[in-house]
Amino acid sequence: MTKRTETAKPTGSATDFIPPRPTLAKLRSAVQGCRGCNLFKCGRAVFGEGPSRARVMVIGEQPGDVEERAGHTFVGPSGKVLDRAFDAAGIDRDDLYLTNAVKHFKWAKDARTKRRIHKTPNAGEIRACFPWLEHEIALVKPEVIVCLGAVAAKALLGRTFSVTKSRGIQLKSEWAPVVFATVHPSSVLRAPSGERIRAERMFVADIRKVARYLSTGAAASQRAVDRSRKFSRWPTTAPRSDISSGSTRSSRA
Ligand code: SF4
Repeated sequence: MTKRTETAKPTGSATDFIPPRPTLAKLRSAVQGCRGCNLFKCGRAVFGEGPSRARVMVIGEQPGDVEERAGHTFVGPSGKVLDRAFDAAGIDRDDLYLTNAVKHFKWAKDARTKRRIHKTPNAGEIRACFPWLEHEIALVKPEVIVCLGAVAAKALLGRTFSVTKSRGIQLKSEWAPVVFATVHPSSVLRAPSGERIRAERMFVADIRKVARYLSTGAAASQRAVDRSRKFSRWPTTAPRSDISSGSTRSSRA
């Protein structure tokens, strides 16, 4: 666990565990000691992965059961849907920085099967975890952020943001020159069998819009402008009061 200085006032969030002069490597190590909310009891934290100068940052909700066990992002069933979509769009997974809005897997044990069942993080947990994500964004400085599902989109774009209404649309934000939001790939897996192919096609169509944006060259020129003005200081506090609460899986997308 990162040691707090004597004078630092605890914030009750991940901010208390952010190391000085952070780098991705330091953050990745420090996150395992985070006690910014009670989800540290749920297992190990899974931090973002990918090139430190990735053009695209993909933000999901939280690691799943497979991810928590493996210690890596998007390696479970949702990750396979994600891989297929980026593959179809001509974007290599190795070029992506993949992370989540919440670094611990929130779960409850199913009384019958004893399996760990996903629980959606609540507003307090999302807010408490946000400093990790802020620092990842500040360090990677992606040209494009892709938010997967409601938790990631609302964490970044505000509680009134609707993925259903605004999926696949190129959005301006303080976090990156362009932000796209789409559904979480787990929603494709949860779609009724007759709807699944269509749901995956729509997801791929959204990811193709990201690829089109990157290939226009607009992204590169915008990056030159925005990199100079963004993240001139570390925004370590930013508890966002506008993050919505959510307690059901259906709120993900
Ligand atoms: S979910 Fe985030 S804030 Fe909560 S303990 Fe884990 S890393 Fe810390």
